[in-house]
Amino acid sequence: MNDSPLLRVTSLKIAIRTREKDLFPVNSVSFHINKGECVCLVGESGCGKSVTALSLMGLLPSPPFHLAGGEIFFKDLAIHAMSSLELQDIRGRHMAMIFQEPMTALNPVFTIGEQIAEAVNAHFSFSPEETRKKTLAALEMAEMPDPGLYAASYPHQLSGGMRQRAMIAMALACTPSLLIADEPTTALDVSTQDQILQLMNSLREKNGLSLLFITHNMGVVAQIAQRVMIMYAGRLVEISPVEEFFTKPRHPYSKALLDSIPKYDSISGQDENTNNRKERLSTIPGNVPSLEAIPSGCPFHDRCPNAMARCSIETPLLMETGRDTEVACHLYSSCR
Ligand code: SF4
Repeated sequence: MNDSPLLRVTSLKIAIRTREKDLFPVNSVSFHINKGECVCLVGESGCGKSVTALSLMGLLPSPPFHLAGGEIFFKDLAIHAMSSLELQDIRGRHMAMIFQEPMTALNPVFTIGEQIAEAVNAHFSFSPEETRKKTLAALEMAEMPDPGLYAASYPHQLSGGMRQRAMIAMALACTPSLLIADEPTTALDVSTQDQILQLMNSLREKNGLSLLFITHNMGVVAQIAQRVMIMYAGRLVEISPVEEFFTKPRHPYSKALLDSIPKYDSISGQDENTNNRKERLSTIPGNVPSLEAIPSGCPFHDRCPNAMARCSIETPLLMETGRDTEVACHLYSSCR
């Protein structure tokens, strides 16, 4: 049995070249994803989540982006060393991506079926009949109730949830092993969001699909993830199994993110009869720094309630603090 991860990223560094200097939206990022596993990548906007995801697919425009260091291995393929032609062969066939807003990703002048068929024909030389079968099979996999009808529909004829299912069908058409989903449920109402998450869970369980799921919604994380990676200012600051993350978050940023989720009893207000107290919702002071102004040392130090003198000088590295758990924080360093 081969236990090596499906995807292994080591010390990934992505730079944006400017006239003055290189800026690093992704810095020293290392992680892995196993077969059939869903890993959620979480953080505020501007933390580097989408740049990380796009770099795995070789989809960052160059210039201004370039790979400044590190390695990306998908199975035994060195993605970081591939030409754009070689990457085209991997994209869609072995790794696929779905985005937040399907209306901008789908072409309004082609039917859903034509767009899925195009994705299939980009990688296989099937007859029109075989391509049609693959197209309908992909729509069925995405649990679209009447595949023939939806294959003949244009994107504007579908609801938001059905459009997202069409995007998933397109991504699954060539049966990739890794699906990268960049906030795919953010634009959907909660019940449609729930259906899409259930669909992804079942694809993972039944087909062994691996998922890198980008979100800032902790409810989504709880519903779909096996492991969680927290990102801040281009760096991973905590990697943890999902149960452990919710019961015992370690990094001060993880704790602050969890504290800023509204709790039912804190929004239900003061009840004169029961003396329940209405609590003010916690927020994280300040903002995610811009790439030009990432602080020295720990990038979170100017927002951290636990900051110490060394935090503004030394950058903490991700280190193991337990089984499958890694944290980048001086609070957990032995030479404190
Ligand atoms: Fe806070 Fe220091 Fe840990 Fe950074 S290293 S999260 S500033 S305690």
